[in-house]
Amino acid sequence: MNRIKNAKKQTVDGILFLQGVFKTDCDKIEDFFHERLLHGNTTTAKYYDKIPLTFTNIDDWPKTTNLLCRNCNRVPKARPWFEPQSIAPISRGYIGKLISSKDLVRKHISHDYCMNVKGVFCTANCVMRYTLTNSKDLSDRLNKIQMLLILHEIFTGRTVTNIEPSPVATEMIQYGGLLSEADYQKKIDDINTTKHSSENFVSSCKAYFSQLALDD
Ligand SMILES: [Zn+2]
Repeated sequence: MNRIKNAKKQTVDGILFLQGVFKTDCDKIEDFFHERLLHGNTTTAKYYDKIPLTFTNIDDWPKTTNLLCRNCNRVPKARPWFEPQSIAPISRGYIGKLISSKDLVRKHISHDYCMNVKGVFCTANCVMRYTLTNSKDLSDRLNKIQMLLILHEIFTGRTVTNIEPSPVATEMIQYGGLLSEADYQKKIDDINTTKHSSENFVSSCKAYFSQLALDD
């Protein structure tokens, strides 16, 4: 390349002559683009964290992540939540053994069971919103809510009977709504500090069991 830059230039009838430079001194256009594709992109690639496929205990769970909340598209400010898909026994001591309902009590969950993980969420409220919106039927919804309540207990050490859903994400200004991200967070904080009844959950349960009765 330097040879080309330093060559004596002469133009005759619009044709450029470079003294001492030959065709073989020039890079092929294909090589030029290939090189640019390999090394020419100066944009720094963004690397995203990975979330484990299963949750086994709080100590091994990531404390932060740069992944976005599946419900509101904000980056979680604390330990990322997930939507539990199922609770399964882990192999320690239970291989091939059926788990009795007596064994499936909350205090064993962090030790002998794992939860299959879906998604990343900034709060339990966003998990709840996602579950209410996306569960395939009432039974699926109730199961996931029950598992979320267990997860809440593991994450926070507090037992609750209901978790209020986040406001719908489209209330934020980036979706044409009125709430800034800070306003959206404030709404979540407010619903968590306000004493709520477990009305929604109880009414869902009632609806589910009356449907079962009708099916029989
Ligand atoms: Zn969120």
